[in-house]
Amino acid sequence: MTKQNIGSKVKLADGNEMPVQGLGVYRMTDENQVINSVKSAYHDGYRLFDTAQMYKNEAAVGKAVKDLNVNRDDLFITTKIAEENQGYDKVMSSFEESLKKLQLDYVDMLLVHWPIHTHFFETWRAFESLKEQGLVKSIGTSNYGMLHLQYLATKANEMPVVNQLEVHPYLSQQAMVDFDRENHIVTQAWAPLGRGRIFDDPVIVKIAEAHDKSAAQVILRWHLQRGDTFIPKSVHPQRIQQNADIYDFELSDDEMEQIAGLNRNTRISQEPEMVYEIGHQYPHH
Ligand code: NAP
Repeated sequence: MTKQNIGSKVKLADGNEMPVQGLGVYRMTDENQVINSVKSAYHDGYRLFDTAQMYKNEAAVGKAVKDLNVNRDDLFITTKIAEENQGYDKVMSSFEESLKKLQLDYVDMLLVHWPIHTHFFETWRAFESLKEQGLVKSIGTSNYGMLHLQYLATKANEMPVVNQLEVHPYLSQQAMVDFDRENHIVTQAWAPLGRGRIFDDPVIVKIAEAHDKSAAQVILRWHLQRGDTFIPKSVHPQRIQQNADIYDFELSDDEMEQIAGLNRNTRISQEPEMVYEIGHQYPHH
């Protein structure tokens, strides 16, 4: 097996490649904070930056990317269409705005941020059309469960190549990750660190001590060995660097199992299916 590093990429079903690890920028609103975090991460080898219309920081990411002054091909920029912008026309117009804010000609990945039953197929038709136009290189979903993906498959011309999901040791989502894999969809873990709530877990602390690594590093290493892709967020250069420094140690099978055993199916976010009662609310299904 070739040794992985911060530059490692995964091949997507559409033929494009995506970095395994990236930087999430949720809750960074201060422009300088975004610029400094992106700069610091790029310096450490990160190439994927994950923003969203909802984060209200696409313009700051655009400025940060411009400041980097590197080849566009060297970067992988993801953004997401907000719930209120779903539907064919709104996806098209809001995406145009996103591109302007990002100061880009195209994005590498466009995700549907959240599954909603209204405009379900119209939204996806817009995504397919943006990809056809070359304004988006790859299209994917976020927070889609099995039923959403199965329903989408009934009409989609092409399926999402990435499904970004809340995944961390307290919500391992094994069945969903397996489902994605069986359907050639790469799972990208959001809140891979459980937004910090797992750092004090005794199992994690013990494993971290054994490897002389931090809790965050152990958790990210677990994702890596499990085959997830992941986008931890930090605004601290030292943590951004630390989160990238996970390629020089290995968790044993036993340690991997101990961490998998921490799963308690608890979410930071709401449960998509519960909110939208998919299957009950689709009138034509
Ligand atoms: P996360 O990455 O699991 O955790 C971020 C938290 O951990 C921050 O409070 C950060 O604090 C802290 N942290 C990071 N590295 C650390 C380290 N080495 N040591 C100690 N603390 C550390 O949570 P997240 O930001 O919610 O998720 C990551 C990204 O996923 C987001 O930024 C966003 O891009 C994406 N996301 C997507 C969705 C979706 O619905 N698709 C939802 C939520 C998030 P500091 O910043 O202060 O260092």
